[in-house]
Amino acid sequence: MLGTRGAVLRAGGRQLARLLSGQRRAESSPDPWCGPMVATRGTCSDVPSQAPHAPLSSQAPATPATMPPHLAAYPTLDKLGLLVGGAVRIKEPARVEALISGIVGGGFSRLQLVVDFDYTLTRVHMGGHRCHCSWGIMDNSPKMPEYYREEANRLLAKYYPIEVDPKMSEAEKIPHMLEWYEQIHDLLVKCAISRDAIKGMVSASSSRLREGSEELCHTLHGAGVPVLVLSAGMGDVLEEVLRQFNVYTDNVKVVSNFFDYNEEGRMVGFKGKLIHVFNKNEDAIHSSDYFEKLHDRNNVILMGDSLGDIKMAMGVPQPSSVLKIGFLNDKIDERLEVFMDNFDIVLLDDQTMDVTNSIVGLMK
Ligand SMILES: [Mg+2]
Repeated sequence: MLGTRGAVLRAGGRQLARLLSGQRRAESSPDPWCGPMVATRGTCSDVPSQAPHAPLSSQAPATPATMPPHLAAYPTLDKLGLLVGGAVRIKEPARVEALISGIVGGGFSRLQLVVDFDYTLTRVHMGGHRCHCSWGIMDNSPKMPEYYREEANRLLAKYYPIEVDPKMSEAEKIPHMLEWYEQIHDLLVKCAISRDAIKGMVSASSSRLREGSEELCHTLHGAGVPVLVLSAGMGDVLEEVLRQFNVYTDNVKVVSNFFDYNEEGRMVGFKGKLIHVFNKNEDAIHSSDYFEKLHDRNNVILMGDSLGDIKMAMGVPQPSSVLKIGFLNDKIDERLEVFMDNFDIVLLDDQTMDVTNSIVGLMK
């Protein structure tokens, strides 16, 4: 049971009034761009890929699972609005108190963000319909040939169950993920997609930023905080989403799978090493000097919706505080325990960026 596994906290503050009152933000009316409830390429895994958190030297011992939240012991969490129950789960409030107070105390000059894109910056559903992820934008676009959509959905049906199979190890899954991506890549090359077509596919899709993502991005841009978007999705597509929502600012760096184009602007392959959901610590950024250049920004807010995402901040030199926020979008009951073991804050089917905005709001 959730209530007995760990102290259940509910972050609050001005932006979390709805959560504190037990209400969800009313979703907008069904959006005409939202497609049907189609299967979209998933980005989640049920297999823990990293040991549970090591204790921080500066923090109190882990809170016993049955210990009730003690507001006085968690002043920063208290500022955010502490409440038992709701859509926020925190296994170790003392640890999270230390992390957030460290991040807030360090200010914007010590901060960087490392975030996943699909279903982290973007919404999972809206108006009762599932929103497209970056792959889904193409898989479901009428601008793509019929044979592509059929084959892409056949591959999805074959490989997605493997991606989320709780009985398979990450090592067992990786060869299948590589097979999946290679076949999709070959298929895409066959389609000779034009650079210009992507813009129209994105604008006609149901992809939407999570509510509050734009506010967060604008705050971080104004404060000069670097944001690394690390995605196993399609870089060209997700960049276009960021552009269309006016959040692709100069503090944002995208690392993903990018198309290679010929002189006619037709896609002929992919650049660089493939990024899939389980190798997010091995991409070009982790072998570059990106994190080294940001060595004075050793406070990190990491956000993801897959256990594979917790690897994204590996490579940050001498991190002081790395706060991992996990969006648990699907299979909530089955995956809650492992998410709580691996993410500091777990948000249950929360289609907003309210919690992160509240934390960043303390730094203004
Ligand atoms: Mg994702």
